[in-house]
Amino acid sequence: MGYSRLNNANAASSAREDGCPMQIDATGCVNGIRFIVSPNFDERPAGCAISLLVIHNISLPPDEFGGDGVAELFTNKLDPEAHSYYRTIHGLKVSSHFYIRRTGETIQFVPCEKRAWHAGESCWQDRGRCNDFSIGIELEGSDSQPFTDSQYRALVELTLELQKAYPIEHIAGHSDIAPGRKTDPGPCFDWERYRTALTASR
Ligand SMILES: [Zn+2]
Repeated sequence: MGYSRLNNANAASSAREDGCPMQIDATGCVNGIRFIVSPNFDERPAGCAISLLVIHNISLPPDEFGGDGVAELFTNKLDPEAHSYYRTIHGLKVSSHFYIRRTGETIQFVPCEKRAWHAGESCWQDRGRCNDFSIGIELEGSDSQPFTDSQYRALVELTLELQKAYPIEHIAGHSDIAPGRKTDPGPCFDWERYRTALTASR
């Protein structure tokens, strides 16, 4: 599938632990990571600040890791015949800004300045339509398996960069903004580990 690296001269930069620069350009693309273009996005409402990060988990087929199913879903290329589960989600038009694989590889699908379609019907602190004002981060995983050390490292690094670039006030799970409908990132996501690492890295 096609992908491209997007660069922009108008970028703020910082150094990653491994010395590679992670930069977020003016359109909200993180340079230095793989970008796969998803058609599943549109414009955020005018003047709408990005104030929420939403953490998810996803794996396709469910509970199977390492394949291309998620990227295929986000690019509308999922073959409904490839797996029985895929038939049940065929035609779904969804995306996320970021997807962090079990290896820690981070892939971007939608520029942060655009509205990705990850939250669905949702509400955060009496405010609906969370896609309008949030960035979605999908972790390759499930509700029943621990996430990897590499994923926590990548998630913390990405979060710190996003917090520098945008006025993010809150970080929530999909289950927090769509209770009763969504369970991810699930009980295996270690919020304390995540929040402690964020605090320690500042
Ligand atoms: Zn989710």
